[in-house]
Amino acid sequence: GLAVRCRRVLHIYRADGGDVVALSGVDLDIAAGEKLALVGPSGSGKSTLIALLSGLMRPSAGQVRIGPVDIGRVSDAELARMRGTDLGVVLQGARRNLLPYASVLSNIWLAQRRAAQVRPADVERPERILSLLGLVGMGHRRVRDLPPGAAQRVAIAVGVAASPGLLLIDEPTSRLDREARDEVLDALDTINRERGTTIVAVTHDPDVGARLGRAVTIRDGRVGAEGREGREFAVV
Ligand code: ADP
Ligand code: ADP
Repeated sequence: GLAVRCRRVLHIYRADGGDVVALSGVDLDIAAGEKLALVGPSGSGKSTLIALLSGLMRPSAGQVRIGPVDIGRVSDAELARMRGTDLGVVLQGARRNLLPYASVLSNIWLAQRRAAQVRPADVERPERILSLLGLVGMGHRRVRDLPPGAAQRVAIAVGVAASPGLLLIDEPTSRLDREARDEVLDALDTINRERGTTIVAVTHDPDVGARLGRAVTIRDGRVGAEGREGREFAVV
């Protein structure tokens, strides 16, 4: 997995009504192979941090380092190459990440085809990815016909199809029932254990924070309480 290091990260959006300071001095270290939950109230800067770690934006100031790469300093082309290979991103709402009328396998193939051009050695057999996500036997089903929990696991399958060192996932279990939620969390555990993938999840669900191991609270654009086993969720 890839380690993450944020130092004095500042992010300002230029908006019509004036500048919005979304992150103001974030310091955060995530070890290679760690699983971490980002929690905190709405508007606190979680999505902004995920977007920076996804290479979708650069910080206004400060350093965001992913593995050996300082994303504030690499070219746009290099950032584009990292997305979909080193960085797996699963946005909120599984179906937004997928082609609904295509099969599960087609969705995985599509993600892999891009990655194969950049890094062919790391592309696994699609069947192996199905088994990693508990999707064996579902490869030929259309995404739109799947229940929400399975669709979320397909979105994660697409996110990890190119064997990224860092997986970023926004609200992995929102709107899932308990059983589907547990299946998604089991799948994340399996990916983390078998591949050593570093996983960062934004979540409002205390159980997710507890299951992931470490939770970091973002409040008003800063990193606040930090703890293990989700203890600090009591104050969120
Ligand atoms: P969270 O994910 O914790 O809800 P966000 O990162 O989405 O927080 O937002 C942090 C702050 O930045 C909020 O005040 C939000 O309104 C603002 N913000 C987010 N995106 C934009 C944008 N594209 N333009 C202007 N302000 C934004
Ligand atoms: P979340 O709570 O999951 O972060 P939001 O509803 O805060 O979702 O944000 C959804 C989208 O709207 C994001 O792309 C964010 O960047 C954008 N956004 C949030 N706040 C603002 C804002 N004040 N101005 C412009 N865009 C914003």
